[in-house]
Amino acid sequence: MSQIVTLERQGDIDVITIDNPPVNAFSHAVRAALLDRIVEADAGDSSAIVLRCAGRTYVAGADITEFGKPPKDPWLPDVFNRIEDCSKPVIAALHGTALGGGLESAIASHYRIAVPTARLGFPEVLLGLLPGAGGTQRAPRLMGVEAALDFILSGKPIGAKAALASGLIDRIAEGDLLEAALAYAQELVDAGAAPRRSSSLPVDANSVAADFFEQKRVAVARKTRGVPAPQAIIDCIEASTRLDFEQGSAFEREKFAELMSSPESAGLRHVFFAERKTSKIEGIDKNTPLRPVNSVGIIGAGTMGGGIAMNFANAGIAVTLLELNQEALDHGIGVCRKNYERSAAKGRFTQEQVEHYMGLISGTTSYDDLADADLVIEAVFEDPQIKFEVFTKLDAVCKPGAILASNTSYQNIDEIAAVTSRPQDVLGMHFFSPANVMKLLEVVRGEKTADDVLATVMKLAKKIRKVAVLSRVCYGFIGNRMLGGYFREAQMLLLEGATPVQVDSAMQSFGMAMGPLAVGDLAGLDIGYKARRALANPPTHPATNIADQLVEMGRLGQKTGAGYYRYDPETRKRLADPEVEAMIRAEAKRLGIEPRNFSDEEIVARVIYPLINEGARILEEGVAQRASDIDIVYIYGYGFPAHRGGPMFYADTVGAKVVYDKICEFRDTLRPDDWQPAPLLEKLAKENGKFNL
Ligand code: NAD
Repeated sequence: MSQIVTLERQGDIDVITIDNPPVNAFSHAVRAALLDRIVEADAGDSSAIVLRCAGRTYVAGADITEFGKPPKDPWLPDVFNRIEDCSKPVIAALHGTALGGGLESAIASHYRIAVPTARLGFPEVLLGLLPGAGGTQRAPRLMGVEAALDFILSGKPIGAKAALASGLIDRIAEGDLLEAALAYAQELVDAGAAPRRSSSLPVDANSVAADFFEQKRVAVARKTRGVPAPQAIIDCIEASTRLDFEQGSAFEREKFAELMSSPESAGLRHVFFAERKTSKIEGIDKNTPLRPVNSVGIIGAGTMGGGIAMNFANAGIAVTLLELNQEALDHGIGVCRKNYERSAAKGRFTQEQVEHYMGLISGTTSYDDLADADLVIEAVFEDPQIKFEVFTKLDAVCKPGAILASNTSYQNIDEIAAVTSRPQDVLGMHFFSPANVMKLLEVVRGEKTADDVLATVMKLAKKIRKVAVLSRVCYGFIGNRMLGGYFREAQMLLLEGATPVQVDSAMQSFGMAMGPLAVGDLAGLDIGYKARRALANPPTHPATNIADQLVEMGRLGQKTGAGYYRYDPETRKRLADPEVEAMIRAEAKRLGIEPRNFSDEEIVARVIYPLINEGARILEEGVAQRASDIDIVYIYGYGFPAHRGGPMFYADTVGAKVVYDKICEFRDTLRPDDWQPAPLLEKLAKENGKFNL
């Protein structure tokens, strides 16, 4: 049986190799075996030890499937301390990604050498944690206080060159890594180099100003509202400046344990796993042969079409945009260029890259140019008749087997598919605005969509760096369908006495990227207004009365400088507007609604519980495959706070019964039609069950 950690002698030097595919994660078995091999090598007569990994990467982190389970000996900190205690030089040889616990093992080794392509990082903060096996105490000793803090707070990996410059590694390997590591080890032995233990290096506390940590706490709090990990990281780095290594490590351990049991980390870890599950389609074999997608056509070069085109160009796939006329085409392509140029100005791309990407985007006004496209995405006006015309034309010109997608937000994909002779090739690809930025893609499966079409698009989504979630056909699919109740209650709260500032602040304190009313102003209040009026039976619910009046007052949102708020023309800052508040009070009076006060907690329940209730229906109807998919939709498409794990995970944290009881209370005291509890929610409340199993 092949061993998970091996020890072999190469001349005078011991080589310890971790071989735990796919990413050599520090599972319990690896920890235990590594400790044994280290003890063995330390006791032997070799003159140095090289620690390295087989396969495609050095240890890329702890085994996060073990998170949340009772810890089993040996713990990582003990293993790493034992590595550091070795009486002969230990040289870590890094390739691929040395992340989290992997990097901690490297900095507990005495010397580090890495291939030029290696990447090193502490991604723990992204899971609401901190490097808890000595990372926060050793990194400042190697890199300096400020650099270590910024590095650990960012969660982002750095390349070998930057790691060398920062003191995190000692050397970059030329040629074969093992050979270079052995040569480095021999060189150290020949020079009589003693083990260099990072725990014994001094921390230069005077390298930062007296109020450095306080300033950081304030700055970071502003950016990471409600998430404790960044503050705990600052605490640990500060501890490294005033405690010795042992005390600092004990402090780090305590903070790590607190974070591990925090709801915020539980939420972030849920999101980590949820994101990895979205691409699995129940009932479709993962080995389904895929259709090649090397060229893409996009119909409509408006807000969405241009952004969608950029996604493909960024992935190296040629795109042809089709518009009604040359002017619209030039405008659409011009917007793509402007976006690229803006990124280039910020240093994100070089001018050559801009030209390369733009070289992949071409335009046409003739459908004949789409005859060879492997995939065509329609992004024209949200009008079913126009969409039917477009798909009829596509059906006539596109080659057999081409995938035909619609970016519609609300239209029925099955009706669109039915105008073609190939409904099996039709599906929805619902991007979010701005399409070149937002990570979410809802893939909408029509009644007749072929399995290989779905499998191809789910795979393609990864190539264009989207997180794809599968939805069945329904009005608004997963995300927009759930929004109905969310916006309804935000507006009803205004009529009942809350102000726009209060509603939005409560939701922002909850963690939403923006409050619902500020979102309305950003998107433009006229969009919903027009959509409501276009319906055969426009809604008569009082919830939309305020938005309608705002539009009729010429307050369309940010684009007209006023909506629910007034916007300072200079700074574009959002300001409360007494005129709006007076209008709201007048409308409430007309409807006979008595104003009252609201706590933030009540506002959150009123606005978030409809998301959960509709999510429960979506789940039981099979529109979404799993609760965690709904969570991903809300986090990546709607600014729901990741540390709360998404609306369904949040419901699990609060408890289905609490949510259900509150919804029943709202049903009985507010509006029965709006607040009927979903049967699945009722069932879970009775069984004390969870949405996320
Ligand atoms: P838009 O008005 O900005 O752009 C539509 C473009 O389509 C225009 O440039 C127009 O000239 C072009 N067009 C219209 N009819 C055409 C035809 N027959 N042939 C070729 N081009 C035609 O609209 P948008 O915001 O980009 O929305 C496009 C689609 O994407 C809609 O279905 C919308 O529901 C959906 N969508 C929009 C958003 C958003 O936030 N804007 C988000 C997700 C999905």
